Parts: sequence; structure tokens; C-alpha cells
Amino acid sequence: MAVATARKPARRRTAKPEPEPVKCTPCGGTGEVSRAVRVGRKQRVVGQQTGMCLACFGSGEATTD
Ligand SMILES: [Zn+2]
Repeated sequence: MAVATARKPARRRTAKPEPEPVKCTPCGGTGEVSRAVRVGRKQRVVGQQTGMCLACFGSGEATTD
């Protein structure tokens, strides 16, 4: 008599569970920060510019070193 055994698809992961990446605070994990573009003597804001986050260098993850 055959016994029907429900087999779950075995997904074996040999990789170690990676620690969750800590999001970079200034950019919130996006790797980009928007900053106001100012021109002139009065530093008038003419718009916003998106630049690479200098805290994480665009990786979005907080660096620990
Ligand atoms: Zn960042």
C-alpha cells in the first residue's frame, strides 16, 4: 500500500543568514539625497538636486567603519 507523502519543495539554503543591512540615515537607504540648489548672493533656492549620498557612497547601507 502506497502512502501518499506530501513533499514540500525543499529549498535548502546553505548560505548563512545575512544580517539585515542597516539603512543609511541621511538617505534612508536610497543612496541618494536631495539637496536644495541655491544660487546667487541671497542663496535663493532654485530647485532640488539629487546627489549621491556621501555617508554611504550610494550604497544605501550604513557603513560601520
Ligand atoms: Zn546614504
